[in-house]
Amino acid sequence: MRTSDQLMQEYLLPNYGRYNVWPVRGEGPYVWDRDGKKYLDFAGGVAVCPLGHCPPPVVKALTEQANTLIHVSNWYCIDKQAELARILVEECVGIPGKCFFCNSGAEANEGLLKLARKYGQQTGGRYEIITFTGSFHGRTFGAMTATAQEKIHGGFGPLPPGFVYAPFNDIAALEAAITDKTVAILMEPVQGESGVNAVTAEFLRAAQRLCREKDLLLLLDEVQCGFGRAGEMAGWRSIVPGDEIQPDGISWAKAIGSGFPLGSFWVNDRRDLSKTLGPGTHGTTYGGSPLACAVGIATLRTILDEKLCDNAKARGAAIATAACAWNHVLIKEVRQLGLFIGFELNTEAISAKSGGKLPSIFLAQQLLDAGMMVTPAGPNVVRWLSPLNITEAHAKEGLSIFKSVLDQLA
Ligand SMILES: *Cc1c(COP(=O)(O)O)cnc(C)c1O
Repeated sequence: MRTSDQLMQEYLLPNYGRYNVWPVRGEGPYVWDRDGKKYLDFAGGVAVCPLGHCPPPVVKALTEQANTLIHVSNWYCIDKQAELARILVEECVGIPGKCFFCNSGAEANEGLLKLARKYGQQTGGRYEIITFTGSFHGRTFGAMTATAQEKIHGGFGPLPPGFVYAPFNDIAALEAAITDKTVAILMEPVQGESGVNAVTAEFLRAAQRLCREKDLLLLLDEVQCGFGRAGEMAGWRSIVPGDEIQPDGISWAKAIGSGFPLGSFWVNDRRDLSKTLGPGTHGTTYGGSPLACAVGIATLRTILDEKLCDNAKARGAAIATAACAWNHVLIKEVRQLGLFIGFELNTEAISAKSGGKLPSIFLAQQLLDAGMMVTPAGPNVVRWLSPLNITEAHAKEGLSIFKSVLDQLA
């Protein structure tokens, strides 16, 4: 009989650079691999598991809904969609608007891109969408092209036209990038894939001002930073608190489904924007199934009812304070918003040991060997994306493994 390793080699596309770890079971912030080795999972499926693995309220909602009704088409009305949309609008965004449900972050962003194109058509034939260096918006053609990173585009041209890239957090450059064809600005309030880089409050305010002046849509990709990851249900409020920022569109995925595929986007009711995508303009077969929405409701209810944003803020700050106090030679900077934590590595010092591997990839491997999962973010940063409900003891455990691995490498 062939092993799973052999089957993987033979039948899976080689598009992922995988670590040779085979998780088979998870509970809370821990997973176990097929050899029984235990890991502290602070990768969280790349920000997908805000409640850790197999959280009881989600498992309950999933199994109950699976025994009741898994799927019906969007030809019919789905009560769980209506309730999940209510939670998103009233309890997460707090600004009147309407939601659409899909299955992933890329799809949610595609929806925002279509919204922008449609709006541009209706307002003088504008179509350019400005996005930012270091961004990540997904792997479909629109989302990939919106992603302002060469390495993501490589070899797939011609890419769809109408995307303009500007340097992140540079107000003058953003202003200069706007033309009479511009219709929208799309950004992640906290860039995840490029290393936990937050937008500055001044830049976010300037982007909103320019949007209002020039009738552009302000679109926020909260796929990674939303739902408490950065310490607030709405990620941008961790940058500019309160209601000063009023986005026109928001995309979500990752944490919303605790690992069940679910994405969504929201459109502001302002000036009837949420009527832009009318009947027949957009859709998806699976999106917003009763099962997906039941899981989404259970996830968001738990984050809200257990006040996990507060926990994320407190634990995240304590972790960052502890890590900064090490003054470690291998850490250049700690960037932290809630439990969205990026450790920028001292690349020269690590490169000396990493045998040609990228420092972030190499360190993540060393941590796996020591029983901890983290996620690389670009070549020089590792991210902690722990569950939002970790205890002080979990945080200490993570810090202890992390420090001992860094000490060994130093
Ligand atoms: C992960 C991610 C996406 C893409 O989500 P998929 O579900 O992989 O399509 C888009 N935007 C951001 C900010 C992300 O982190």
